Amino acid sequence: ALPQGNGARIQRYTQDLEDQQRQRLHIQRALRGATERHEMSLAFQPKICAQHNRVLGAEALLRWHHPELGHVSPGLFIPLAEASGDIFAIGSWVIEQTLGYIAAWQDAAWMSADFNIAVNVSARQLSRRDFADTLLAQVKRHGVELAHLSLEVTESGLMNDIHNARQQLEQLHAAGIAVAVDDFGTGHSSLAYLKTLPLSTLKIDRAFVMDLEDSPVDRQLARTITQLAHGVGCDVVAEGIETPAQADYLRSIGCEIMQGYFYSRPLPASAFTELCTRWENAPRPA
Ligand code: C2E
Ligand code: MG
Ligand code: MG
Ligand code: MG
Repeated sequence: ALPQGNGARIQRYTQDLEDQQRQRLHIQRALRGATERHEMSLAFQPKICAQHNRVLGAEALLRWHHPELGHVSPGLFIPLAEASGDIFAIGSWVIEQTLGYIAAWQDAAWMSADFNIAVNVSARQLSRRDFADTLLAQVKRHGVELAHLSLEVTESGLMNDIHNARQQLEQLHAAGIAVAVDDFGTGHSSLAYLKTLPLSTLKIDRAFVMDLEDSPVDRQLARTITQLAHGVGCDVVAEGIETPAQADYLRSIGCEIMQGYFYSRPLPASAFTELCTRWENAPRPA
């Protein structure tokens, strides 16, 4: 019975792999031209100042609704877009859209001088020699203040082609665009890059935030990451905050900026501007 059971399991496993492979190919094909067909949009998840409980900006997150596949998660399609090279067109569209929104929001009362929208940039985008030039030209064309745009890059994104990443980041830094390290502490890289790259922010990954209430080890890790960030001159954003207790703890250890479902889910642009207006008029008590 055992060999038969194993055989069935292996067959099911092989079938699953084939299904997965087919689904990946299907998604990869559907991705091509998705922005031109208006299947993509941006959602904005507010970033909250831990001290003053103000909306300091948002992270722009891609949303894809395909007519047959329905909503596809960026966690699934971004790696496929990176593999196929479609990430260049999609990434450029994300920056274009974001700059369009910033230009439209620039005169709003809630858009303070330090308000900024963070865009996620993938490793392959950053490995382009003309990434900074292209981005700065886009910003100029939209007539947007550079301080209103920031970037999020993962550690692996920075390490992928560190030599070129450094050149691009130095150019962006000189122009006044802040860069955050996303998913900090979850990769495999050394900390040496913190010494030399012009970074302004470390983002504490949700993996360290989710169990804060029950795990003394996670509390220690969050505190250590925060101290490390401050030690190298960076601010700290905590992501994935879902409970008031997590927010209280992160505030108590000096984390400057809060992000997570506890404050708000990622919102369509119109709902995000409504939230900004609401908070501007009646800030929530810290
Ligand atoms: P990320 O940059 O680390 O973004 C945070 C993810 O956590 C988002 O998932 C967000 O919706 C989710 N999140 C935020 N707060 C909470 C919370 O309190 N609880 C839980 N459970 N989740 C929370 P999303 O939107 O599915 O994006 C997944 C990843 O896809 C992002 O991770 C980012 O790496 C990538 N991504 C999204 N948009 C873009 C984009 O425009 N360009 C690139 N290159 N990557 C993107
Ligand atoms: Mg991010
Ligand atoms: Mg993140
Ligand atoms: Mg993350």
